[in-house]
Amino acid sequence: MEYRQLGRTGEKISVIGMGCWEMGLSKNHKDWAGEIASLRRGIELGMNLIDTAERYSSGRSEELVGEAVRDCRDDVFIATKVAPPNLRHDAVIRACKESVRRLGVSYVDLYQIHWPDSAVPIRETMSAMEELIQAGLVRYIGISNFSVPEAEDARAALARSEIASNQVEYSLTNRSVEADILPYCVREKITLMAYSPLAHGKIARSIPSDILRKYGMSPAQAMLNWATRNQQVVAIPKASNIRHQEENASSIVVRFSSAEYDKMSSG
Ligand code: NAP
Repeated sequence: MEYRQLGRTGEKISVIGMGCWEMGLSKNHKDWAGEIASLRRGIELGMNLIDTAERYSSGRSEELVGEAVRDCRDDVFIATKVAPPNLRHDAVIRACKESVRRLGVSYVDLYQIHWPDSAVPIRETMSAMEELIQAGLVRYIGISNFSVPEAEDARAALARSEIASNQVEYSLTNRSVEADILPYCVREKITLMAYSPLAHGKIARSIPSDILRKYGMSPAQAMLNWATRNQQVVAIPKASNIRHQEENASSIVVRFSSAEYDKMSSG
């Protein structure tokens, strides 16, 4: 596994992480075994970045992640999110404590604002985020689905900390962030965490077969390799299936040439 620095933090996170949207959908914990096994296999293969959210499966995704990392919490980097309508000061603090409880950990590594909410002053949300850092409940602050102007406001609202990452949709089939958010992240050394890098499982059919043959990769692996070709990007595919997780973990063992990346981009 290859690792990259999170923002300007010095923290190393795996270039391919593990998304956990829709994990723990079943209310019966016995049904979680396959998803937990998949996450544990990913950890074994060096994927230390795990992304969840208070919203996912009504909190059960966080519970499932907690079960998966119970005996290896210090080896993983847990990213979770607070969502509207919990962006007022006291609600942020409460939501974080709830996430920490569901995860069964004493702190989260990265606490992200899931979506911006113009109804709540960003300063209010960020002052709560910084209090959480001071209290030792959170290590780093991230944002998600923030435009460049919203990211600028978020950074200006922080007194002592920096925005480490912006989690946004990015895949071979959805490249809109290349217009502004990606160049901004590169310039400002903010990690772009690419969500839905496999286009929600709608794997691209346009990938040139000569590239797949040359590297012995599946189209999904090529999509992840492509999405993380920029040093500022990490990707968080979701794989409930252990075979998918293994495939994803080995998607960047070699890098394509820039001409091959270009060929994929124009495919
Ligand atoms: P995704 O990762 O693009 O696609 C997931 C789908 O691809 C699943 O159906 C999965 O199947 C399948 N898959 C995984 N690996 C595969 C492989 N090697 N070959 C073929 N199929 C494969 O979609 P996503 O879940 O929307 O996004 C990933 C993560 O990003 C989420 O889990 C979440 O953590 C985050 N996210 C964040 C936001 C946000 O607003 N911040 C929004 C959406 C997503 P199996 O599960 O059966 O293995």
